Amino acid sequence: MEPQPAPPTLFNSLTRKAEPFVPVHAGEARVYTCGPTVYNYPHIGNMRAYVFADVLGRTLSFKGYNLSHVINITDVGHLTDDADAGEDKLEKAAKASAQSIWDIAQHYTEAYWADITALNIRQPAHWSIATDYVPQMIEFAQSIAAKHCYELPSGLYFDVASVADYGRLARAATDEGEGRIEAVDGKRQAADFAIWRKTPEGERRQMEWDSPWGRGAPGWHLECSVMSGALLGFPFDIHTGGIDHREIHHPNEIAQNQAICCTGGLDVASHSGANIWMHNNFLVERSGKMSKSSGEFLRLQLLIDKGYHPLAYRLLCLQAHYRSELEFSWEGLGAALTRLKRMVLGIEALKHRHAELVSASISPPASLSPDEGWTLKQVQGDDELMKAQGGNLQAFDEAISNDLATPEALTDIDLVLAAKKQAPAVRLRAIAAMDAVLGLNLLTLTRADLRLRPKSATFAEAEIEAILAQRKEARAAKDFARSDALRDELAAKGVEVMDGDPLGWEWRLA
Ligand code: AMP
Ligand code: ZN
Repeated sequence: MEPQPAPPTLFNSLTRKAEPFVPVHAGEARVYTCGPTVYNYPHIGNMRAYVFADVLGRTLSFKGYNLSHVINITDVGHLTDDADAGEDKLEKAAKASAQSIWDIAQHYTEAYWADITALNIRQPAHWSIATDYVPQMIEFAQSIAAKHCYELPSGLYFDVASVADYGRLARAATDEGEGRIEAVDGKRQAADFAIWRKTPEGERRQMEWDSPWGRGAPGWHLECSVMSGALLGFPFDIHTGGIDHREIHHPNEIAQNQAICCTGGLDVASHSGANIWMHNNFLVERSGKMSKSSGEFLRLQLLIDKGYHPLAYRLLCLQAHYRSELEFSWEGLGAALTRLKRMVLGIEALKHRHAELVSASISPPASLSPDEGWTLKQVQGDDELMKAQGGNLQAFDEAISNDLATPEALTDIDLVLAAKKQAPAVRLRAIAAMDAVLGLNLLTLTRADLRLRPKSATFAEAEIEAILAQRKEARAAKDFARSDALRDELAAKGVEVMDGDPLGWEWRLA
């Protein structure tokens, strides 16, 4: 039998150890990612969670597993506090904007999908929408109610003492955790949470359903247990989310999963519903611009409007390990953009050289595979590639297999670009294979795509190019007075001419 690639090692928040990935179903990887609550635009911190989940999915595909990935869309049940306090985020947004809750959900879901596309995050096999699963949620609650829940006037609550090791996943001191949970009269434990919330008498919600516990809406934690179990089957392989979910949402999902899996115990890892629970650390910003309530909050669209290509933000994320906190700054984003430009510039030169060789029939027209679909097995079966770049590709594989060490993996792209003596085609193939995991679109991005291009700048590129062409002619004719005049004309339009720029740029917006 052919040797199988070594499995990746992934950090499991539940056991607090890095563990080799052992799939539940041979050859498959089933992954569930907690998705956005669609009451507002996602901020770039939220998008870090999906870049991480995407790199995980791409890594598993690269290693040869057949990936089933689910991301949910929370359009009901998430209160303004992760525990049981406050209002439903969507009901609140609907009241504030006088729009229907369904219109709000649709608008922000589409905005989120636009960010997913801009960041080159692959489509999961399923986008599961919470409101599509309400009947299944009621069924789930009915099957665990007798043994694990109790009813109060405000709804049906989960008794966390009914399962073993409740909260084992969480890191925050219990006191601190409990401090955040609003008391509800009659709760047995502070950490008990609503499975079903009844609509208070005399009120009407835009979204409500009939249930054995009265008209109302499901609790937020219930939806992820129901959708992950329905679409991936318990136990599945990996559950992901941001580290805030490690404290309340995921411990509550685990408690529900223990209940539905007919075991109060957690002695077998799979009784939590998923074998591995993975959490990305936060993107932080010191001045509070990540808060959705601040005026200029950090949406991906704001970065784009300021002229940054969205994949520069993806690269910024990859430059840090997903379990490290990452501080956002405009300088850091600018540096990531410059690094991306350097890579793209190097790749453009390789493509150019490759095309020249092909047209001169010096090297056979090797096909350039797109950035999708490469697997480690294909890499290892490509003798020419292994001969030229085997060591580098092995280092790349080791990096991503070491709990997704993207900062190290990125340096392997630089090493391919530095291998100046090797044929361009084989180097381009090595980059394509690596980019199948990194997802930076390295083979299709062009230098022009990465030009800093703020939305506020009003200029016509064709006009600039025309003036630059005249200036070239003037310089060729040694008419330096005219050349300088044309440079000034451009400066008046806010365009700086960049003679002799090491990155090969002819101009930039000043
Ligand atoms: P939400 O829409 O609030 O449910 O959050 C969507 C995802 O973003 C969840 O996985 C959160 O854990 C994650 N998240 C929230 N804030 C940040 C942040 N600042 N950095 C990274 N991930 C975050
Ligand atoms: Zn969730």
